[in-house]
Amino acid sequence: MLERIRKSYAIMDQVCRQLGREIFIMETCGVHTVSNFRNGIRTSLPQNIKLITGPGCPACAYESDYIDMLLQLTRIDNVVLAVQADLMRVPGPSGSLEKDADRGHIEIVVNAGDAFKLAESITDKIIVYSAMGFSDAAVDTAGAIIQARSQRVKNFCIVSNHRSTTAALRQLFESRCGDVDAVILPPFAARVYGINRFRWIVDDFKMPCLVAGFDPMNTIEGIAEICRQIMAHAAGITVMFDEDVDPQGNSEFYELIHSVFQLDSGVWPGLGRVEKSRYVLKDDMADFDAYKRFDVKPTHLSKTPGCICDQVLCGRAEPTKCPLFDRDCTYENPADSCMAAEDGPCRAYYRWARKKTKPRE
Ligand code: SF4
Repeated sequence: MLERIRKSYAIMDQVCRQLGREIFIMETCGVHTVSNFRNGIRTSLPQNIKLITGPGCPACAYESDYIDMLLQLTRIDNVVLAVQADLMRVPGPSGSLEKDADRGHIEIVVNAGDAFKLAESITDKIIVYSAMGFSDAAVDTAGAIIQARSQRVKNFCIVSNHRSTTAALRQLFESRCGDVDAVILPPFAARVYGINRFRWIVDDFKMPCLVAGFDPMNTIEGIAEICRQIMAHAAGITVMFDEDVDPQGNSEFYELIHSVFQLDSGVWPGLGRVEKSRYVLKDDMADFDAYKRFDVKPTHLSKTPGCICDQVLCGRAEPTKCPLFDRDCTYENPADSCMAAEDGPCRAYYRWARKKTKPRE
């Protein structure tokens, strides 16, 4: 293994020397940012290789009224909101679920399956699951809805904020054309939709892509391969994932998602509205759509003054450049979702790169 590591870093060093400029590689999945910090990869790369953050933090990409909607749901008498822990601390315009919700009306769950089990056990309440995450999480939610329908479980519905990264990435790369050199793709989306789904990044933008899990050896070797391709003016999709990734994707997952959801436009931080990037329930699934079952409306929309999450999630700025970082925005008291969420980029920088900021005044 040591020899493979040496060889990979030797390739990176050689390419950096020959290229004589910085290489920007975007981590499209927030878990990669966390894992690359945790495994020391970010600090071990040659200085000219920069890993930049992308839009793939599940608790960071949502409509700005989403947290407000969830807060309203917790105030409806016969509703129990089933929510993933990551969302509890995310501040919305009217507050956070942790501080401002009716706590008697919240249950923490891990996934849609857990929320569905709640619906089976608490039959005198309606369980509303705050469905968030990307394609892999949408598979779980679609499965729970199909199960609820086949078992005629009436007290289960969802507030969908599931996202598909493909269209968002295209909009991002069109706006940043030329200043991202390569991409580390979201591995779970690749497993659902297949690597061919991302072929356009290579064809249209000539950027090498890496599909890697979170194994550090795979990531190091994958980054070396990206560097080799950049030097050779080549681009391809390199797969270094311990799990099988079919180029065409998993047809069972695909059919499950699209039997329940259709793609609609969604707002992304820093990108604005992106067509076909948000999973909404199909019309014949209205019984499971909390937006249709309850009268919840956006109250007011606002952005945290000074917060630069929109730039951070497009790789245009590092969190440490935010004027609030480690001052008015800390993990203990987050000002916005990028710091509140476990896979948020600001949270990752706060944990592993905080010393680089100015000391507190
Ligand atoms: S440090 Fe806080 S305020 Fe600044 S960009 Fe990150 S989440 Fe927003």
